[in-house]
Amino acid sequence: MKKKGLLLVISGPSGVGKGTICKEYLRTHDDCTLSVSATTRSPREGEIDGVNYFFLSHEEFRKRIDADGFLEHAVFCENYYGTPKDAVMEMIESGKDVILEIEVQGALQVRSHYPEAVFIFVLPPALCDLEERLRGRGTETEDVILSRLERAKAEFKYIEKYNYVLINDTVEEATNRLDAIVKAEHCLLCRNYKYIEKEFLNDK
Ligand code: 5GP
Repeated sequence: MKKKGLLLVISGPSGVGKGTICKEYLRTHDDCTLSVSATTRSPREGEIDGVNYFFLSHEEFRKRIDADGFLEHAVFCENYYGTPKDAVMEMIESGKDVILEIEVQGALQVRSHYPEAVFIFVLPPALCDLEERLRGRGTETEDVILSRLERAKAEFKYIEKYNYVLINDTVEEATNRLDAIVKAEHCLLCRNYKYIEKEFLNDK
């Protein structure tokens, strides 16, 4: 009996290292895949269309919203971001785990449409680390950095909507804990009940 994959929703402030943790996790888990989001923001140096994001114009993004093409979408620091719906659902049905690396407004939408998803919030060891990491990345202007820090503080308030917290002390430790979360979630009784019922609880 084929089991559905997990939808893993990973949020956390800009610069916290969500991307690095996900990349490391995916490197060693080929039963898991990262959903490629669409966005209206401009590509950063080295980002490739269709790999890091689908980079769309505002007009094209709005068209896809109207066509119900997104599982969720949100505005983050003046740009649209959204998760293409069909691709994600197909992967989950095929048994693959799928990671959505998304901000909190989108995560809340997923929670209301797909409550069986697993919600994980990544935190830095301390608040001051965040500014340091954002500046160290050197990919954003000062205005963007300040706006992302403000947004981070607003996002912390939603942490109670998540199931797990992942402190990014080291990438290795954080990735190991992500692995533990995913393994435990796969063992939840409710995720295995159909199989158990068929195999063990059927009197015939
Ligand atoms: P960045 O511009 O740094 O790539 O992403 C900015 C924020 O948008 C990050 O918090 C990232 O997780 C979030 N994000 C990326 N893709 C999506 C998406 O499809 N939906 C939502 N709601 N947020 C996204």
